[in-house]
Amino acid sequence: MSDFDRQHFAPETQAIRAGQKRSAEGEHSDPIVATSSYVFDSAAEAAARFSGQEKGNIYSRFTNPTVRTFEERLAAMEGGERCIATASGMAAIATLSMGLLKARDHVVCSRGVFGNTVLLFKNFMGKFGVETTFVDLTDLSRWETAIRPQTRFLFLETPSNPLTEVADIEQLAALAHHHNCLLIVDNVFCTPILQKPLELGADLVVHSATKYLDGQGRCVGGAIIGPNDLLESEIFPFLKTGGPSMSPFNAWVFLTGLETLAVRIHAHCKNAGALAQWLEGRPETERVHYPGLHSHPQYALANEQQKGAGGVLSFELRGGKDAAWKLIDSTRLLSITANLGDVKTTITHPATTTHSRLTPEERVAAGISDGLVRISVGLENLEDIKSDLRF
Ligand SMILES: *Cc1c(COP(=O)(O)O)cnc(C)c1O
Repeated sequence: MSDFDRQHFAPETQAIRAGQKRSAEGEHSDPIVATSSYVFDSAAEAAARFSGQEKGNIYSRFTNPTVRTFEERLAAMEGGERCIATASGMAAIATLSMGLLKARDHVVCSRGVFGNTVLLFKNFMGKFGVETTFVDLTDLSRWETAIRPQTRFLFLETPSNPLTEVADIEQLAALAHHHNCLLIVDNVFCTPILQKPLELGADLVVHSATKYLDGQGRCVGGAIIGPNDLLESEIFPFLKTGGPSMSPFNAWVFLTGLETLAVRIHAHCKNAGALAQWLEGRPETERVHYPGLHSHPQYALANEQQKGAGGVLSFELRGGKDAAWKLIDSTRLLSITANLGDVKTTITHPATTTHSRLTPEERVAAGISDGLVRISVGLENLEDIKSDLRF
């Protein structure tokens, strides 16, 4: 992607155009380059590629043209210099951890991140001598007191899942940089259409492409976006060696997903906003969590930091677990699944699924009540979604 493309086009345009390099065939759509290895003109060329003297493809664990198109497109959209595509969202977080961390390093992570991210830091990075402190996403003083001289990075998702709490990225970036740490933001919920963490001062962005980037629940994939130097020197070497690379087929599916990302995201926001308001007016709900509602504690911040409130909301039912399960079991249209970011609306009970590993006390501390229900609002007709919720 040229600097011209980077600077002059909006994300909606980049999502459709950035990164494509047509072959001599003049194809209009992006092709899938299904090859594991690449052929050299001579022994000397092979030697030059392997030694790094000459740029070019060697093997698809390292680079692949279809994967590169996806990487360049997403890098342009996030306003980053470089993107590394990975086999899944968790592969992206594992890859950046393996690349950036060493024994005795320390990480500060929001308590409200994806469950497997917690396990990765606690159980696996912990096994290699990396310690992680978990803090409340919205309490800046907790972040500050958790930082140690050994802290390498701060890690967060905003809005959080399932309570949609919003963190001030600019403030946390300033805090991280003051202490010589990196700020890493998981941008799955917003996508670059709604929020660009790098512009707010974050150093790296990670994605699970499985969610909104695909948007239709077809493939698993992920990405890391940030400055070229950092990705080249510390993170790409792990991808090449450890091998959690994205397949060309999946990259192609994500490219087609990106083409419609902007229209989908705005439609998700519209449906979710209307559903949140309707839910807030129902007698059965005690509280609705959605950054687009005036009642949300960080409504003003979300309004400023994001171009829309997103497609995920949660709400607490007065009737507790029984009422939550009854509501979920009475759906006929909605899908009972923990996935999100799909055109299909999904409904889930966090306390007994995504957060069931926590003890009851830990769940209370995390704000996951027994009556909490999460909905990833899809693109079906709003009235059909509403009438599928039988309280
Ligand atoms: C799903 C998800 C991940 C993990 O992504 P996978 O593609 O499932 O590995 C990470 N972060 C967030 C916010 C997610 O929703």
